[in-house]
Amino acid sequence: MGQQKSARAGLSRRDAIGMLGGAAIAAASTATAAEADFPPGAVIRTLSKDYAPAELAGGATLFHEHMSLRDGFMVDWLRHAAETRAATQAPGTPPRPAGPNGGGGAGAAPAPNFLIDEDLMADEMAIARREGIGCIVDAGHPDMGRDVSFLRRISQRSGLPIVASAGFYTQPFYPPDIATWSEDRIVDAIMGQVRANPTGALGEIGSWDYISKDERKVFRAVGKVHRLTNLPIFTHTGIPGKSALEQLDILEDAGVAPRRVVIGHLGNLVDPNTEIQRAIIRRGAFVGIDRQGGAQDAQVVPMVASLIAQGYADHLMFSSDLSSPREIKRNNPQTGGYAKTLTVFVPKLKAAGASEADLHRIMYDNPRRFLAFVPKIKRT
Ligand SMILES: [Zn+2]
Repeated sequence: MGQQKSARAGLSRRDAIGMLGGAAIAAASTATAAEADFPPGAVIRTLSKDYAPAELAGGATLFHEHMSLRDGFMVDWLRHAAETRAATQAPGTPPRPAGPNGGGGAGAAPAPNFLIDEDLMADEMAIARREGIGCIVDAGHPDMGRDVSFLRRISQRSGLPIVASAGFYTQPFYPPDIATWSEDRIVDAIMGQVRANPTGALGEIGSWDYISKDERKVFRAVGKVHRLTNLPIFTHTGIPGKSALEQLDILEDAGVAPRRVVIGHLGNLVDPNTEIQRAIIRRGAFVGIDRQGGAQDAQVVPMVASLIAQGYADHLMFSSDLSSPREIKRNNPQTGGYAKTLTVFVPKLKAAGASEADLHRIMYDNPRRFLAFVPKIKRT
């Protein structure tokens, strides 16, 4: 399979090089070809067990979703987002929909919190599994009120493997005294999370708006934790896509290889020329298109179709960052639910000209390449 994949990737890379004529993309693509085979001993660490990457090849993997957030988290999120927009937007900017998700955020009712309802979430996971999802990453950690035992129970009841993450989210959600914490204290705190539960990723690690001093400190600490654990890293960029390049700079400076990183929420950064997205791809990282499946798709699909046409499928990662009660099957049977990346977004890209092979690679291979790691810390 690795051979075949390399050959396919080679074709698209040649096309990309021909189109763009850049030496930088050739260098980045070489790194991708070497990554096509999983390193010996690599696993995908879920809450139930460590999987060999090939064991999860039969389903699509979603690298950034939310299945557990504390009561009130989304209320706080929406308030902070509104305050940030009011404080930073240029005069005369038209109002934009609130909410973390282009799909369902506008005016999303934050209560009741479906992310603490075990029966409901076990059902939603079972539906996603039936609709083709083979593995799903929860992007929360303690500062977001993520409950690992809740995740473990809904995974057991639905049979859908769930990867739990570790880290700190963004400035508004940090411990209030984080400014007084040393970088090493943050490293120790994250290592405590990694040791407390089977952890398969560091994420979502974010900058809320322009990256703050404390956020830079957390990113440096996350880079150190990566070197201690070998865990992959996925990020949250502010509104819209701010600080994306700086996030990658800090992680690279901390010794993280870009191919181990997804810079997230770059579908929100609507730019027909995809300047920032391509800059990140040229450096070898993944670009997260991870808030789709809704109204914003009209803008996102042409952008992503163009990146695929340019030969960048190996560097794209899709997910939906689901957090709105309007997006779940129980409340809205017409919606795609947790599988909407696969059942709603991917068909739109196919209609826009993306090939079956490229879309399969993005949904089935890229997230497994990203998540597979050779552990330095034993499962707990
Ligand atoms: Zn998220």
